[in-house]
Amino acid sequence: AAKGLGGDRWHWFDPAMDEMARETARLNADLRRALADDEFFLLYQPIVDLPSHRPAGVEALLRWRHPERGLVAPDVFIPLAERSGLIVELGRWVLENACRQAAEWQTRYGGNAPAKVSINVSARQLAEPDFVETVDEIISRTGVDRSRLMLEVTETAVLAPGPGLEAIHRLRANGLRVALDDFGTGQSSLSLLLNCPVDVLKVDRSFVSGNAADHAGAVIVENLIGFTNGLHIEAIAEGVETREQAGRLFQAGYRLAQGYLFGRPMSAEDIEAQLDATAGTIVMS
Ligand code: C2E
Ligand code: MG
Ligand code: MG
Ligand code: MG
Repeated sequence: AAKGLGGDRWHWFDPAMDEMARETARLNADLRRALADDEFFLLYQPIVDLPSHRPAGVEALLRWRHPERGLVAPDVFIPLAERSGLIVELGRWVLENACRQAAEWQTRYGGNAPAKVSINVSARQLAEPDFVETVDEIISRTGVDRSRLMLEVTETAVLAPGPGLEAIHRLRANGLRVALDDFGTGQSSLSLLLNCPVDVLKVDRSFVSGNAADHAGAVIVENLIGFTNGLHIEAIAEGVETREQAGRLFQAGYRLAQGYLFGRPMSAEDIEAQLDATAGTIVMS
């Protein structure tokens, strides 16, 4: 009875919270249906080689076209899918489609295809007991060359020992490249990096063009590159929006960068149009 009373009080005192919970429940139900109804699609954002401005790869970014709400941002639905566990199925869909696309580009463009297709993997997905087998199965079924793939993980996956960290070791032993995404936003430290089993570090855009891109941000960005060089880790600067930022990164020694300056996330067709336009020609930087 006491419990029931508490429930009544909740409704009485906080209708806004109740509405938020309803809204979340609705979105969750829609998410579950969205996979079957084919409402997801991938966009691809170029990652460029700074010295030449040539594309060095693309990152696959998930989008949800909701029938009534329109485009829903991944920052909204990915956390929901992580909490409900749907991320495992959704993440498999992403892997499957990005690998199929990478294989297609490989066949069609050969050496001119994006050298790497980067795929985001959530910590929960990575910790699934059969994750490494799922990746291997998708790679052999789609026929993509594993050297053309990169998996982006977040620091929650590499911070603590556990199934996620184990999976990263196994993936790398199997010849897959792993990138640590959004570096600098969480609790990761340079000492973590020393033991970090990753090939690539993606320096978060908050240091490059975001709120922290002030003097302190610039100092961090400029010094991280020496650190990654020393550890034989490749660095990618995220969120490059201006020529000035690109220039500073290049001066600091960055070779790889991603951001609106070089290209927004775009459809596979738009990536292909760019590949067709530059095929067989030398891109001047
Ligand atoms: P992320 O992996 O760090 O991806 C980069 C995000 O930064 C993308 O946002 C991209 O559109 C945005 N971005 C790129 N360049 C710039 C720039 O110059 N300025 C600004 N302001 N933003 C830039 P998006 O596509 O909204 O994705 C947000 C996050 O959602 C991703 O961050 C990633 O954590 C997550 N996400 C996206 N797709 C997937 C997926 O397939 N699986 C999982 N697990 N997470 C995903
Ligand atoms: Mg990413
Ligand atoms: Mg990132
Ligand atoms: Mg991010």
